[in-house]
Amino acid sequence: MKKELPSSIQFIKGVGPRLADTLTKLNIESVEDLLYYFPRDYQDRSNLLPIQQLRPDGNEVTVQGKVIRITESKPRRGLSILRVTISDQTDLLSGVWFNQPFLKKQFEKDKVYIFSGKLNEKRWRFNQKEINNPVFEEVDAGDNIHTGRVVPIYSLTSGITQQRLRQVIYNALRDYLHHLPDVLPPLLKEKYHLLSLADSIEGMHFPENRQHYVKARTRLAFEELLLLQLLILKRKKGILEKKGIKHHEPGKVLPNFLSSLSFELTPAQQVVWQEIKGDMERAIPMQRLLQGDVGSGKTIIATLALIETMANNFQGVFMAPTEILAEQHYIKLKDLLGRLGFNVSLITGSLNPVERKEVEESISTNKTDLIIGTHALFQEKINYHRLGLVVIDEQHRFGVEQRFQLVNKGENPDLLVMTATPIPRTLALTLYGDLDLSVIDRLPPGRKPIITTWRNQEASSGIYRFVREKLINGEQVYVVCPLIEPSEEVKAISAIEKMEVLTKTFADFQLGLLHSKLSAEEKKGVMDRFRSGELNLLVSTTVVEVGLDVANASVMVIENAERFGLAQLHQLRGRVGRGKNQSYCILIGNPGTEEGRQRLRVMTQSSDGFQIAEEDLKLRGPGEFFGTKQHGLPDLKVANLIKDQKLISYSRQEAEVLLSRHNRQEEYQLLWERITELEFKI
Ligand code: ADP
Ligand code: MG
Repeated sequence: MKKELPSSIQFIKGVGPRLADTLTKLNIESVEDLLYYFPRDYQDRSNLLPIQQLRPDGNEVTVQGKVIRITESKPRRGLSILRVTISDQTDLLSGVWFNQPFLKKQFEKDKVYIFSGKLNEKRWRFNQKEINNPVFEEVDAGDNIHTGRVVPIYSLTSGITQQRLRQVIYNALRDYLHHLPDVLPPLLKEKYHLLSLADSIEGMHFPENRQHYVKARTRLAFEELLLLQLLILKRKKGILEKKGIKHHEPGKVLPNFLSSLSFELTPAQQVVWQEIKGDMERAIPMQRLLQGDVGSGKTIIATLALIETMANNFQGVFMAPTEILAEQHYIKLKDLLGRLGFNVSLITGSLNPVERKEVEESISTNKTDLIIGTHALFQEKINYHRLGLVVIDEQHRFGVEQRFQLVNKGENPDLLVMTATPIPRTLALTLYGDLDLSVIDRLPPGRKPIITTWRNQEASSGIYRFVREKLINGEQVYVVCPLIEPSEEVKAISAIEKMEVLTKTFADFQLGLLHSKLSAEEKKGVMDRFRSGELNLLVSTTVVEVGLDVANASVMVIENAERFGLAQLHQLRGRVGRGKNQSYCILIGNPGTEEGRQRLRVMTQSSDGFQIAEEDLKLRGPGEFFGTKQHGLPDLKVANLIKDQKLISYSRQEAEVLLSRHNRQEEYQLLWERITELEFKI
C-alpha cells in the first residue's frame, strides 16, 4: 500500500502559509494539484556551448565553467555591480548582476556553475563576453533544475517567480511523485508501451529530452481519454438498463400527416426517421442525436416523432433555446397538429401568472398533448401527465444537465436532441458518446445555393441599393448588427443606430427592430409582423441566429461581420435560402487580422457546415464549443480532442472492452475507484 498524499501543500519543502496562499491563485490547493500543474512551455538549456563559439544572435545560450573571479564594484551611489567570471578552457565569460549584492555569497571560487541567458551584444563588440542577469546554478550541488537541461516554464501569478515555482514543484516531485496511484491497468500499459504514471508526471515537468516529453504526454492523454470514454459508456449503459417506453406503430396518422405536407421527405430524412421510429418502438429509452446542417429539415422529423408519442397517448415536450424559436415552433406545430386533433401549448418565461397557471393545469390534467417552450419547461411546478418524448432543439445551446433535468420530469421518456453543429465523427462519439447518432446529410432538393459575398464598409451604399431591388421585388431582408446600442468601448455598428439610418434610406418600406432588450411581447409582435410579410426588413442582433424559418426572406446582410465566429456566421446565413428565390448573404467587414480575413474568405468559399466547422477548429481550436464541461465531463488537462484522434479511438476501444468484460480483478480496482470518484464529482 502506498503512502497517502498529504492534502495540504504546506507539507512540501519551501511552501509556507504565504506561498500556499499565492498558489491557490493558480488553483493549486493540494499536493496532487501541484504535481499536475504542468508547464505551459519548455526551454532547451541542455545544449552546452563552448564559450568561444558564442554569438549574440538574440537566442538564449547555456554555458558551463569554473569560477575564476568574483568582483564587486560601486561605480557610483546607488549602483552596485557583481561580476562573476567563469572559464571553460576555450574562453572566459562573465555573469553581471546590478544591485543584487546578496547574490555574491552564492558563488565560490573554483566551483563549476552553469549560466543561461542572452549574450550582451554591445559588450561583445568590445570583445567582452557577458550575460546580464543570467539564470545560474551550481553543477555539483545536486540535480540541475533551472539550467543545463530542458527547463519547464510555468504560468505564474503575482507573488511567485519562475525559479521559485520550479523549485517547489521539483521538491514535490522528489518527495511525493511515487505516492500517486497509477490507475492504468498494467496490461494496457504494456500493450501501448505507455510509461508509468510517475515517469510521465516527471516527464511533463522535467523531461530528459523531447522524446521523454512526448511519451509522458501520450500516456497522460491516454489515461484522460480512457476515463472520459469509460464515464460516457457507463452513462450510456446505465440508460440502456432502464426500462423505457415501448411506443406502438400508430397506424394511419403518420402517412396522413405526411401526405398533407407540401413536400415529400428526402431519402436522408426517411433514413433518420426510421432510425428514430425504431428506437421509439423498443422498450429501451431512446437517446438519439440528430445532426443536420442548417436548413436540412430537422423540425419535420421531430414533428413525426412527437406525433408518434401523442398517438400513443403520451405527452411530448419540445424545448428550444430562445423564446423566438419556441414561438415559431408553436405557431407552426399548432397549425399542423391542431388539424390532427392534438392540443399544443406554449410555455416560456414571459407568461403572466394567470396564463402560466392555466398551462400548468392543462399539462398535469392531460388536456394538452404537446408542450413547446424554453427552459421554463423543466421548472419545478410543472407536472407532466405522461411524458413520452422529449425533443431538444439546437442542443449545443444547452448543457447536459438541462437535458437530464428535463428527462427526469418523466419516467425514462425517449429523448431526441437536435443540432446543426457539425462535428467530426470521432469527436461526436466522444462528446456525445452516450447518444446514438443520426445524420441528415443532404439538404432538401431545389435549394439554390446561397450566394455569399464579402465587401468592406466602403461598399455599403452599393449593397443597400441591391437590398432595395430585392425589397421592390417583394422579398424580405435581414440586417444583423453585433451590438444592440452604441457603445463607448466597442467600435461596431449597433442595431439601434442602423435602424435609424435605414428607416431614412427605406422610408417607403416597413422596417422592424429586434434585439434581446425588448420585452417578450414586443419581440413576438415584431416577429409576427416579419413572418406575415408586413415588415419588409428586419434590423436585428444575433437573436435571429438559430432556427428562424421565414421562407420569403432572401437576403442576409451582416454588418461588422468580422465580429462573429464562423459557426455563428454559418447559422446566420442559414436564415435565408429557405424559399424559391435566389438568396444572398452579404458580409460587410474590414477585419484587422489575417485570421479575421480568413474567416470571411471561408464563408464565401464554402456552404458546407462540416467543412466550416473543420476550418473553425483549425482557426480557433476546440474552444468552449467543443469543450467537455458543457457535456458533463471532466476537464481535459493534457489530451486534445482535435489532435489526439488516434488516442481517442484506442481509448474508446479499450473502454468498451473493459466495460463488457466487467473486469473486477485487483489490477483494475484503482481504475474503477477513480471512475466512481469522477462520477460522484460531476
Ligand atoms: P433545420 O434543420 O435548420 O431546423 P428546418 O426544419 O427549419 O431546418 O427546415 C428548413 C425548411 O425546409 C423548412 O421551411 C421546412 O419546411 C423545409 N423542408 C423540410 N423538409 C423538406 C423537404 N423534404 N422538402 C422540402 N422542404 C423541406
Ligand atoms: Mg431548426
